[in-house]
Amino acid sequence: MGLNNSKGNMYDFVTHTWNAIKGACLHDCSYCYMKRWGKLNPVRLDESEFKTDLGAGNFIFVGSSCDMFAEDIPEEWILKVLNFCYQHDNRYLIQSKNPARILEFINHPIFSKKAVVCTTLESNVFYPEVMKNSPAPLDRSAAMSQISHCGVPTYVTIEPIMEFSSLVLFSEMIKQCNPVQVNIGADSGNNHLPEPSIEKIEELINAIKEFTTINRKSNLKRILK
Ligand code: SF4
Repeated sequence: MGLNNSKGNMYDFVTHTWNAIKGACLHDCSYCYMKRWGKLNPVRLDESEFKTDLGAGNFIFVGSSCDMFAEDIPEEWILKVLNFCYQHDNRYLIQSKNPARILEFINHPIFSKKAVVCTTLESNVFYPEVMKNSPAPLDRSAAMSQISHCGVPTYVTIEPIMEFSSLVLFSEMIKQCNPVQVNIGADSGNNHLPEPSIEKIEELINAIKEFTTINRKSNLKRILK
């Protein structure tokens, strides 16, 4: 597949996506867009991707189709991806629902020089039937706090936004990540997720914008009309 131009429901600040680790993601989120294409092959490292010219001056989302920091991904695969990216003069968005594992690699120079780290926080509530094998949002938030204290820029993505039990708890969880930017988006796959009301989303946005920049994804319009 090589370097893919960013399109569709991707972040507007990302120029490309690139995936060397492919296949069924351990986290198995019910809303995962990769499931649209049916049953996925077992997770694997696609060696042919290391012939890709990642160019320069790009902002590349690495691992957009499979969480490369899930617990079943071998350490050598992760290092091979990080080393390859580091050789190219780009910025990289490294996003995971298991940011605690990113801490094991935090001394790799890509994190101090070329990467921002992002996690998804759909809600402050853990929905087992939706989030399946993903770490709980509270654990993600705690790991992101540690990552930010290592001097790495952090982002949070609230997408797909799901019903949250407490505005105070949820906004504190987000704040704990020390995000330079929070992206907010809604389910665009008709996955029948429990969603907050317009009023609750507006309250959340007002609380978050007190401490960071907000990037509203276009799919949020479905709820906010
Ligand atoms: S973590 Fe991301 S790639 Fe993995 S199942 Fe969930 S949505 Fe899909």
